[in-house]
Amino acid sequence: MKERLKALAQAAKTELLAARAPEAVEALRVKYLGKKGELSAVLGGMGKLAPDERRALGETANAVKVQLEGLLAEAVGRVEELKLEAELKGPKLDVTLPGRGRRPGRRHPVAQTLEDIVAVFARLGFSVEAGPEIELDWYNFEALNVPADHPARDMQDTFYVEGGTLHAGFSRQPVVLRTHTSPVQIRTMLKQKPPVRAVMPGRVYRKDSDQTHTPMFHQVEGLLVDTKVSLAELKGTLDAFAKAFFGAKVKTRARPSFFPFTEPSAEVDVSCVFCAGQGCRVCKQTGWLEVLGSGMVHPNVFRHAGYDPSQVTGFAFGMGVERLAMLRYGIDDLRTMFENDYRFVAQF
Ligand SMILES: [Zn+2]
Repeated sequence: MKERLKALAQAAKTELLAARAPEAVEALRVKYLGKKGELSAVLGGMGKLAPDERRALGETANAVKVQLEGLLAEAVGRVEELKLEAELKGPKLDVTLPGRGRRPGRRHPVAQTLEDIVAVFARLGFSVEAGPEIELDWYNFEALNVPADHPARDMQDTFYVEGGTLHAGFSRQPVVLRTHTSPVQIRTMLKQKPPVRAVMPGRVYRKDSDQTHTPMFHQVEGLLVDTKVSLAELKGTLDAFAKAFFGAKVKTRARPSFFPFTEPSAEVDVSCVFCAGQGCRVCKQTGWLEVLGSGMVHPNVFRHAGYDPSQVTGFAFGMGVERLAMLRYGIDDLRTMFENDYRFVAQF
């Protein structure tokens, strides 16, 4: 048994001297001195010996243990030194380099544009209204005079929320992610008597994704209701907006169009901000850019909202915030707006 102890001590010494890394030294500690290590294994057999043999062997075992612990401490010191040496030989740390600093956040071009649009209308006396993004079919379509068979309600365009819901005063009906901010017009009129002069900014959702469409985008809707509101006032208001937003030199024009919730309806163009109306790639050589849809509020919309169409008239308009931001900053791919790349956002 004494021989086994001596052999063990010799083997441990050889291996410890060869160890070059802290992990290797630790492994050897476990192998020789650990609870289930080789020294314990040898000592485990001592119980079968006669008492004086046991005492003599105990002394030897103790000496071996002390010797191994000494060797281990030495090995630990040696590998630490090796590690330090390697670090000193490695790439130098340049403590004179300036720090990276902390970059301040930047406001997203969509957020800036949205706030600027709202600010223009606030100066024209419009208040700001908000409504839910998860909306009942009735507010999103029916009340806005969009009949059940209208193509805008196609599953292709609208995100439906599973399950539908019961709602006070309504039968069970579909629930959608609102496809436009127009339901806020209905909600505003239902809670407020005329006159109304409000803009409704917010997120809207459609099943669309390409260079100029994303499944979520932002709109600003506007509604003005009073007695004797005319189409001329609509034109004047939107012209004032375009000049405040794009610059005093832009011209506007209205083209007849169709929306279910307005009659008559008009698309409003501004003279191209890139070529000053001369014709370029962005305006497809027409000199005009389409920026918003508008019209006189349809009598059916008033009826659904509890207003009497023989007493009030009004106009409504809606614009895409991303589109206006793209025109304003000359961005040609809508998707860059949603990639959250700081280098992109920091340009505005
Ligand atoms: Zn142009």
